[in-house]
Amino acid sequence: MNARLPLDQIRQDTPGVDHVLHFNNAGAALPPRVVLSTVVEHLEREATVGGYEAAAEAAERLEAVYGSLARLIAAEPHEMAVVENATRAWDMAVYGYPFSEGDRVLTSRAEYASNVIALLQLQKRHGIETVLIEDDEHGQIDLENLEAELARGAAMVALTHAPTNGGLINPVEEVGALCKHYGVFYVLDACQSAGQAPIDVGRIGCDVLSGTGRKYLRGPRGTGFLYAGPRALELIEPPFLDLHAATWTTDTTYEIRSGARRFENWEANYAGKLGLGAAVDYALELGVDATCERLCELADSLRQALGGLEGVSVHDKGQVRGGIVTFTVDGMDSADVKAQLSAQHINTTTSPAGHARLDLGRRGLDSLVRASVHYYNTSDEVARFAAAVDRLKGSRNETAP
Ligand SMILES: *Cc1c(COP(=O)(O)O)cnc(C)c1O
Repeated sequence: MNARLPLDQIRQDTPGVDHVLHFNNAGAALPPRVVLSTVVEHLEREATVGGYEAAAEAAERLEAVYGSLARLIAAEPHEMAVVENATRAWDMAVYGYPFSEGDRVLTSRAEYASNVIALLQLQKRHGIETVLIEDDEHGQIDLENLEAELARGAAMVALTHAPTNGGLINPVEEVGALCKHYGVFYVLDACQSAGQAPIDVGRIGCDVLSGTGRKYLRGPRGTGFLYAGPRALELIEPPFLDLHAATWTTDTTYEIRSGARRFENWEANYAGKLGLGAAVDYALELGVDATCERLCELADSLRQALGGLEGVSVHDKGQVRGGIVTFTVDGMDSADVKAQLSAQHINTTTSPAGHARLDLGRRGLDSLVRASVHYYNTSDEVARFAAAVDRLKGSRNETAP
C-alpha cells in the first residue's frame, strides 16, 4: 500500500468512517471534515449577515475555486465553470454545439445513460446520427474501430472516461490523439474519474470535460463543473442565457460573456461552491497520483477477494481499472445483496441495466452490485466486506428450499 499517504490523519479527517463501511464512493463519497465545515460555516454566515453579504465577504475564496478546479485538471481558471452537476455541465456544451443535419457523433458502450438520452433527443431535433464504437477485447473503446469511423467523418466524439457501472478506465489520451488527427471535437465525461485518477486536459486533448463534486472528489452534493477549452469557447453558445452568462447591452442586444462562466447561471449554491473548492484543495494536497494508486490497489484486492468466493462473479472490464468493483451473487438479486449489506451498515449500490444499456444489456446482465472504494478505505474493510458477502451466500443457502 502507498506509504506516502497519512492514512490515520485521513481517517480522522473523515467523520463517516466511524459509522459506516462506505463502498459507495462512486455514488457519493464521504466528505472530509473541511468540506463539511466550509459548507456549514458559509450557511451560518448567510443566516447571520445575509446571503449576498456573505458571498461578498467570501468573494476571494469563491474566485479561488476556479483556480483549484483548473489545477486539478491542468486547465486555466477562465476555462472553468461551476454548475449544479456533471450532467448539466455536459448538457450545456453538447446542447450548445452547432450541429448540422447528418452530423455524426461517435460514442462508446461505456457512455452514461443521461448522455445517451440527450444524444437521442438531439438526433430527433437536429437529425444527427449517433454511431456506437465497439469495445476491443479488453472491454474498452476499440481504437481501430474509432479511427475507421473518424476517417468516415464525424462532428464529435463523446466518451466516458470511467463508466458508472464498472472498473473500466478508457484510454482517453489515445482517443484524444485520434480526435486531434481528424480534427474532431472531443467531449469527455470525467464524472467518475475526477478526483479518482490524474487528469490533464492538455495531454488528453479534449475540448470539453464534465465532472461532479460529490463522487470521487468528496465534495458536496449538487455541485459540478465544466471545462471548456479554446475550441469550445469559440464554437459553443450556451443553449440558454441569463444576465450572468450575457450582458444586456442595449434594449435589443446582448453580449455573451467571454470564458467558460457563460455556461453558469446567476443563482448558485455558494456554500456548495466553497465546499467544492475545499474538496478539490484537499485532493490536491494529498496528490491525486498517490490517492489513485492507493484506491486502485484496494479495488484490485477487493476484486481478488470477491473473485475467490464461490458463487460470486466479478464483472469489471478494461485493461486499466479504477475504484469501481461490480459483482453478482448467484441466485440473489443485486437489490437484495445491497439491502442485506446495508442492514450491516455496509454501503454499496446497484447498477441496473437501464443505467448502462449499451454495456450491461449486451452482456445479458440485469443488474450488478457496485462496491466503489476510495483511498480512505482500508484493507481491513476490504476483508470485512468480502466476509460479509460470503455470509450472505451462506444465509441464502440455508434458507433455500
Ligand atoms: C454520475 C455520473 C454522471 C452524472 O453526474 P451528476 O453529477 O449526477 O449529474 C455522469 N457520468 C457518469 C459516468 C456518472 O457516473
